[in-house]
Amino acid sequence: MTPRAYQLVIIGLLSALVTQIALLYVPADRLYDVPRPAGVVYAQVISVQVSSTPPPNPQPSPTPSLTPTPAVENLPTPIPTMQPESTPTPAMDLLAQCRRIDALSEYDRVRALSELTWQPDYQGAVVIPSCNLIAGNEPKAVVLHYTGGSLSGATNRFQSPDEASAHYVVDRDGTVYQLVPERYGAYHVNCYSKRSFCLETCPICEDEEGRFVEPYVQSIGIEIVNWGPVDENAEFAGPLYEDYQMAFGHRYWEEYTPEQIAAVKALVEDICARWGIPLDAEHVIGHSLINRKTDPGPALNLFWNRYGVPAREAIWPQP
Ligand SMILES: [Zn+2]
Repeated sequence: MTPRAYQLVIIGLLSALVTQIALLYVPADRLYDVPRPAGVVYAQVISVQVSSTPPPNPQPSPTPSLTPTPAVENLPTPIPTMQPESTPTPAMDLLAQCRRIDALSEYDRVRALSELTWQPDYQGAVVIPSCNLIAGNEPKAVVLHYTGGSLSGATNRFQSPDEASAHYVVDRDGTVYQLVPERYGAYHVNCYSKRSFCLETCPICEDEEGRFVEPYVQSIGIEIVNWGPVDENAEFAGPLYEDYQMAFGHRYWEEYTPEQIAAVKALVEDICARWGIPLDAEHVIGHSLINRKTDPGPALNLFWNRYGVPAREAIWPQP
């Protein structure tokens, strides 16, 4: 081959190589001039865009947990109150139970109250629980009342929230109901945080040092189902006691039944024995010695004979 021929062969080989290299960098669609559907290109772009964005977090972002409303069962357990060894220990803390019950709606509250029960202090008492109570009763006296109405009127009231209460209610047939355990105070006598709201002569409105103490944390209260004075009560048709001395300005009073008197006598004697309360007129007293009240009235003659009709000896005759 001549040098000129070599030149031509080399130039030919180089140009072929350049063409091949150039073809590598030309897009296929340009190369073949095939129109590509725009949608496909767009889809590819979209797919690239989607894949180029940060992947969504597959885990749901943790939302801050709301402060849970404490379940009533999770309420802190209050420290149990002290109690004398002579009284039975309820298995649960009644104050915590009652706080839970009082926070319920009316329908649930009534149902929960009907399911609440505890061991009665007095053997044979039927428990009708009331949540109107306070811790720390230190009984120094027994206070007697009449209900001024029916048994159901009294128990309904004592089971209503923020109402009065009593430890016991004694029905006309002698049945004894217990609403509040004796180691808790029941709101059967009340000075409403003011000493002057109770009688100056109240024997259980002060402690040993003469400081004011509510009488409901120094006593056990017994309500006896009885109307009290009935001389203006046209509806009353039961047995009467006529008081010649017209105590509190009333002549006619509902007579307490023999069953009631026997039940009250046994109940008071049991309470006094268990708490070491003297069975006398200074420690077994009527509500009328604490507040400006008329109960239990002259028909219930605790330590004195009645001066009226029918006459009757004292329940606890004094020597
Ligand atoms: Zn009373």
